[in-house]
Amino acid sequence: MFGVVPKTLWSKHQSSDELNRVEAAFNCFVIDGGGERILVETGGGVRHDARAKQRMRLPDAPVVLGDALRAAGFEPESIDIVINTHLHWDHASGNTVDADGGAAPALSRATYYVQRGELEHAREQLPRDAVSYLPVNYEPLIDAGRMRLIDGDFSPVAGVDLRVAPGHTRDIMVALVRDGGETWCQLSDVAPYAAHVTPTWVPAFDLYPLESIQTKSGLFARAAAEQWWCSFAHDPVVSFAKIGIEEGKWRVHPKQA
Ligand SMILES: [Zn+2]
Repeated sequence: MFGVVPKTLWSKHQSSDELNRVEAAFNCFVIDGGGERILVETGGGVRHDARAKQRMRLPDAPVVLGDALRAAGFEPESIDIVINTHLHWDHASGNTVDADGGAAPALSRATYYVQRGELEHAREQLPRDAVSYLPVNYEPLIDAGRMRLIDGDFSPVAGVDLRVAPGHTRDIMVALVRDGGETWCQLSDVAPYAAHVTPTWVPAFDLYPLESIQTKSGLFARAAAEQWWCSFAHDPVVSFAKIGIEEGKWRVHPKQA
């Protein structure tokens, strides 16, 4: 998770278990109030065999996306748009559900947005990262005509901007929402944890680490200058935070509950 950063440094920010595993959330966000209801990310899903559950210490009964949405007050059928920042399994495994006739869209009314380049990369099934791309998370949506492929920066509705933010993958996106003079940025795996606020703290699984550093530096500079609220893909504690630079060091200031 922290790449070349030694544990002596990252362990000051993130605790780990006896096998060096760090706690991870599958953070999904609903953007509501602008006419269309938008879900950003669909999480890690429920299709895990016993071995995977043991290796990753996943719960025996993982949370079903629809139940998580209902618990938060949103009927799954009310979601108009799903944004897949990228197609790694830990972000897109709630995209589909297993039905009688095979996998079907989990959000029955939604149009799913993803970068065309990300889908093309997923379909290459390369040795380096094929394990992250499960066709069941996207092919049924393509077959059903429910996945919309976009090329570069795109605004699905007014006030919501999807920006390509290369590094983790070539075509990963972040979501920016502007409303009432404030900006929120879902950083996805550009910064999986708040501890990744230092631009050079790049996970080992980023495909293009030098681009990651450049992407993060650019985004964080704007986040600090414009006082954005930021969210992280996998931080189990920090949901919303502002980013600042103090005496040359990047800092995260979590929103107080
Ligand atoms: Zn991730």
